[in-house]
This record gives sequence, structure tokens and C-alpha cells, in this order.
Amino acid sequence: MNFDLTEEQNLLRRTVRSFVDKEIMPYIGEWDANHHFETSILKSLANLGLMGVCIPEKYGGSGMDYNSLAIVCEELERGDTAFRTAVSVHTGLNSLTLLQWGTENQKRKYLVPQAKGEKIGAFGLTEPGAGSDVASLGTTAIKEGDHYILSGQKTWISLCDVADHFIVFAYTDKTKKHHGISAFIVERTMDGFSSKAIKGKLGIRAGNTGELFFDNVKVPEENLLGKEGEGFKIAMSALDNGRFTVAAGACGQIMACLEASVKYCHERKTFGKEIGKHQLVQQMIAKMEAGYQMSRLLVFRAGELKNQGKRNTRETSLAKWQACDFANDAANDAVQIHGAYGYSNEYPVERYLRNSKAPVIYEGTREIHTIMQAEYVLGYRKDKPLDHMLPPWANSK
Ligand SMILES: Cc1cc2nc3c(=O)[nH]c(=O)nc-3n(C[C@H](O)[C@H](O)[C@H](O)COP(=O)(O)OP(=O)(O)OC[C@H]3O[C@@H](n4cnc5c(N)ncnc54)[C@H](O)[C@@H]3O)c2cc1C
Repeated sequence: MNFDLTEEQNLLRRTVRSFVDKEIMPYIGEWDANHHFETSILKSLANLGLMGVCIPEKYGGSGMDYNSLAIVCEELERGDTAFRTAVSVHTGLNSLTLLQWGTENQKRKYLVPQAKGEKIGAFGLTEPGAGSDVASLGTTAIKEGDHYILSGQKTWISLCDVADHFIVFAYTDKTKKHHGISAFIVERTMDGFSSKAIKGKLGIRAGNTGELFFDNVKVPEENLLGKEGEGFKIAMSALDNGRFTVAAGACGQIMACLEASVKYCHERKTFGKEIGKHQLVQQMIAKMEAGYQMSRLLVFRAGELKNQGKRNTRETSLAKWQACDFANDAANDAVQIHGAYGYSNEYPVERYLRNSKAPVIYEGTREIHTIMQAEYVLGYRKDKPLDHMLPPWANSK
């Protein structure tokens, strides 16, 4: 066990941090207030090789390990949840799924431009009537000759108006329930595809989230990802990677709460002393620190299992659940520490509180992860090896 970051990982952290400090921090308050998603950030991340940081070099990525993806996500979310969410869906949910399940042709056609950041990927699972209960999907894909006709609707899809490629889940045979779901690679340019952003979100206002519509979209059969009926397994394995990035991002959210709160603790005086000297304020700071340290350990353990090519659904779920809860609590306490000033956008902590709620809901709600953990411990849930495992990191020992 070695808890030290490598020289390369430390350099990566410094690079992302300095990018966030210069290119996101000065503008994020305005973007958030105007509900503006700044797409140029994705281009800059691509120029830094961060849109495919853990994708092998032969597929256009930077070839770093999976914990390097965690470092990118942690540092990005320190800036804002919107940009970490973008990397979560682009790399975590889409590109890594192509790496894991795609044919060589699909990898060449879709993964390579995504890893380079020339094209953006997203993930369409949730529907108006199907969130946690994935088997309630209504979208269908009917085989006609050498293509499928895709009809239906998705909602709450991150990067809905921005992404070029979507991994979309639909029933090819509803009678088979979970085993009748299939996964498809859908391009924005396909006839019958449209998208629309959701307005009035509580948080991640500097991001893009919304609906996808499939009006008899003709999807070529070579865009079926995996085999017919493997969609549910593909969706769950994609979530193993997406959740890992969400957990890592939550560490960045806690870090941002700590930074803002520590600064304010030294600035603000009550009853003749810095508020940081009051023990009940110290308790909130201590809880944030504990949450940060514990979450990072859980994240890096999951990342190390990924590096070794081992199944990590259980460990990733625990990391995601705990880190997101800690982040939501930390943001709540950060507002508390700031008193009334925390209740206005004069300080960033109100944005942290609004942003920290969605990660407790998406990629498995708090309740779903609680149930998963209990089921593992009680022996009701066991993970079987997958036909297609996420490839281990090439340089893993
Ligand atoms: C900002 C944002 C971005 C998102 N991005 C994406 C994306 O890119 N792609 C995508 O596919 N989806 C995305 N989602 C959707 C997200 O994954 C779903 O919202 C999530 O899976 C929960 O589904 P739901 O909202 O339908 O809630 P429901 O499943 O309807 O749950 C409602 C409540 O019931 C509880 N509940 C449900 N079932 C159980 C149970 N068995 N036991 C106990 N409690 C239960 C839940 O925990 C929750 O509290 C996003 C959501 C948000 C908010």
C-alpha cells in the first residue's frame, strides 16, 4: 500500500488546479448566475489532454491511470460541479464504456475523437418514468433490416445540447425485462434526434442538463454496443466508472468548502475572537476534514482496483455514497459557518450547497447505494465477473 501520489499525478493535480484557478474561478459566479455553460472550457481541457486522461494512448487518450481521472475530477469540482459532471459523463459514462464494450471499429470511430476531446460523449439512461428503476424504460429500438428504429424520450441528460455522441438504452425486447435492454451509439446528426435543456435547476446552473427526443431515429446495426440484451449490464458497468468520478468530484467539493470556510473563520470575529476559535465552529471544520480524508481513501481504493482490472462495483458504490453525503453535509456546514453572508452569492458556499445536492441523486441515489451496501453485507448481492471487464491500467503492477 502506497498512499503517495506519483510525480506524474502531482504534476497533473497542479496543472488542473492552476487551470481551474485561472480559467474557471474568476468567471464561475457569473456563469452560474446566468445559467451559462461555457463550452470553451471543454476545448481547453482537451488541449491539456484531460478529456481522455485514462484512455490508452492507442485510442487517443493520455494513457494515465484511473486514479489520475479521479484527480482531474476532484480538482475540477473544486472549481464547479458543472465541469466535473461534464468529464463524468464524457469520460466516465461514455468513453470508458466504449473502451470496455466497444468493437475495434466503434473504438476507432467514436472513442478516439472523444479521447482527444474533438467530439463530446454523453449517456442517456434516465427517462421521465424510469430513474432508479431502469427496467421501466419506455424507449424502444425495433430492428428493420440493417438498422434499428429508435423511439422515445430521455430526461435529465447531462450535456444534452452539447454532446455529439450518446450511449442510449432502449428495449429491443420488452418481454425479457432487464435482459431485453440494449445499448446504442447515437449521433446528434441522425435524423429524428433533438434535445432541449431543462430550466429552473436548483444547482449545476453553469452546466447543461435536459431532454433527448428520438423520433424514429434510424441507427445502423453496427452502432449496437455489446450484444442485443446486454444493455442493462452495460449501463451498470458504465455506472461503476461514472460513480467513481462523482465520488472523486465530491472530494473536490469538500475541499472547496474547507478552503472557503477556513478563510472565513480567520476573517470573521464574534465575541472578541475569530469564529474559528469557537469549538462548535471547529466541529464543523473537523467534520469536513474527516469527510475529505475518508472519501479520498475510498476513491483511491476503488481506483486502484480499476488499475488492476478487478471488479469494483461494491467499493465504488460505497465511495460514491459516502463522498456525496459528506460533500452535501460539508456544503451545508460551510453556509452555516458563513452565517447570513453564506446565504447570498457574495460568497461561493451557497453555490456549493446547491451543487452538492444533484450528486446525492444522480448515478444511484443515496437510498439505492444504502440498499446496495446492506445487500452486499447480508449476502443478498454478489458480483459475477463480466464478459467485458474494464481493461487494467497498462502499467499496473
Ligand atoms: C443534474 C442531473 C444530471 C443528470 N445527468 C444524467 C445523465 O447524464 N444521464 C442519465 O441517464 N441520467 C442523469 N440524471 C438522472 C439521474 O441519474 C436520476 O435522477 C436518478 O437515477 C434518480 O432517478 P429519479 O430522479 O427518477 O428518481 P426515482 O428513481 O423516481 O426516485 C425517487 C425517490 O425514491 C427513492 N427510491 C427509488 N427506489 C427506491 C427503492 N427501491 N428503495 C428506496 N428508495 C427508493 C429514491 O432514492 C429517491 O429518493 C441526472 C440527474 C440530475 C439531477
